[in-house]
Amino acid sequence: MAEFSESLDALWSVQKHDAVIVRQREQLAKLERENQAEHAKVEAAKAALEERKSKLRKLQGEHKELEQELLRLDARVKQLEAQGTEAGMEAAAKQRNKIDELETGGLDLLTAVTIAEQEVQVAETELKQKQEIQAAKLKANADVAAAAQQLIEATEAARTTAAALVTPKLLAVYDEVNARNPGKALAKIAEGFCSACSGEINTQLAMQVRARKEILRCPHCTRILDA
Ligand SMILES: [Zn+2]
Repeated sequence: MAEFSESLDALWSVQKHDAVIVRQREQLAKLERENQAEHAKVEAAKAALEERKSKLRKLQGEHKELEQELLRLDARVKQLEAQGTEAGMEAAAKQRNKIDELETGGLDLLTAVTIAEQEVQVAETELKQKQEIQAAKLKANADVAAAAQQLIEATEAARTTAAALVTPKLLAVYDEVNARNPGKALAKIAEGFCSACSGEINTQLAMQVRARKEILRCPHCTRILDA
């Protein structure tokens, strides 16, 4: 039954490779999360810029309307003055008061437009910075991801070689347990306890495990046990 014992030895090698693959896949997932986070920052900066542009357009629109209203009132004043009557002059004076009020409001509006223009510029700069950071991050992550991908492929090849030395039955059990506990399907018995789940292993089972002659699993976590 030396064959099973060798099979178990080879299985530890398979697990070692699987652990590497799991770590690298986690690394890839982490890089992807980082890329998404950078993307989200850029999208937020774009939204902030659009919001400020929209505010600026609104203020510019209000200012344009106000200027048109002033032109209309100016024309009206000239018309009233042209009448040359006292009533016309009185009405013209009223209109001029209104023009003064509107012009004061117009100055406030111009100030608001200037501030809004500056805010748009700030948002444009922020967006550009975020995009530069994103580009650098994506490039750096792409390099790390390529290395991880390469390591995964090399490790998968080594895993295939090691797996060929494991009996199909043992490998099938391993694959099933490994699917639930990626890279951690094997456990040792340490002083009567499962090294993975710390569940107690009775003496009888521990003896069988030490013999290394058959597939034995932890009654608590179902991992494959080895001495
Ligand atoms: Zn266990």
